[in-house]
Amino acid sequence: MSTTKKHQVGEEITSICTKCKLALDHTIAALVGERVAKVQCKTCGGLHRYVNPASAIETPAKRAAKQTKIEQAWEQLIQSAASKKKQPYTFAGSFKQNDLIDHAQFGLGVVTERLSWDKIQVSFKDGEKILLSKRRVQ
Ligand SMILES: [Zn+2]
Repeated sequence: MSTTKKHQVGEEITSICTKCKLALDHTIAALVGERVAKVQCKTCGGLHRYVNPASAIETPAKRAAKQTKIEQAWEQLIQSAASKKKQPYTFAGSFKQNDLIDHAQFGLGVVTERLSWDKIQVSFKDGEKILLSKRRVQ
């Protein structure tokens, strides 16, 4: 974390552009102490916070690790719900916690929580999603 180089406003710096989503040449627009706070993109002219490209490079790896965790949790849920009957997901369907559902777009999922009278949280392979599901009125 120690940077010996001191930055100055107006100096050129490589930052991830939050608009272009690329590591591009930027001009330092503001400093907080010795830390670069704001930069202006030379490509789109956007003024935004400084995003160190070196720290951003780790992001895909971090994301992959997070995704693996999500998938492992999902597999465990699927296994624990394996004895249940798979139900196709529909808006009109009424699902309970731990129900195994088959979604046309997201695939197999397990209901992890009922959030409100018409919303459920479902764990799918690529993460948790909130779906519509009306609680059945008895
Ligand atoms: Zn830009």
